[in-house]
Amino acid sequence: MEKTKIIFLDRDGVLNTERKEYTYHLSHFSMVEGIGDALAALKEKGFLFVVATNQSGIAKGIYTRSDMQTINKAIAQHLANYGVEIAAWYYCPHHPDYSLCTCRKPDSGMLERGLARFKGNKTKSWFIGDKERDIEAGKKAGLLTLKIESNEDLRPYIKMLNNV
Ligand SMILES: [Mg+2]
Ligand SMILES: [Zn+2]
Repeated sequence: MEKTKIIFLDRDGVLNTERKEYTYHLSHFSMVEGIGDALAALKEKGFLFVVATNQSGIAKGIYTRSDMQTINKAIAQHLANYGVEIAAWYYCPHHPDYSLCTCRKPDSGMLERGLARFKGNKTKSWFIGDKERDIEAGKKAGLLTLKIESNEDLRPYIKMLNNV
């Protein structure tokens, strides 16, 4: 059986706009330009989408899991308008000041879980992020990696992502 092509996506700065502070309320929230169209095109090419996001504001007590889910739901609703679904949402709620873990990027725990769960084909699967720690995590998991600028439109990368 052919293995799944997965695009792992960082959340803030890739799906919703990075605002240089934690995003945990709808008043903070907007989507990155072009993301719905980009993911719809990649879905046509057979990719599955998995989110992997550090949310250490939870460990710090700045916001709750439920606040995070509010943003995740808003993202999911936006993408649904384009026929796009996120197959799984992985998040790391930890911060090294409070507890150690293997999920916080640049560690690759979230990516390993997604790869195992969906039988990902590493040679055709990507991690897309806007921070160096995203790219480190992707490489640690053996994925192809794409580093974009925060809030960059993904549409120009569609062809490249599919041509491996
Ligand atoms: Mg980010
Ligand atoms: Zn963690």
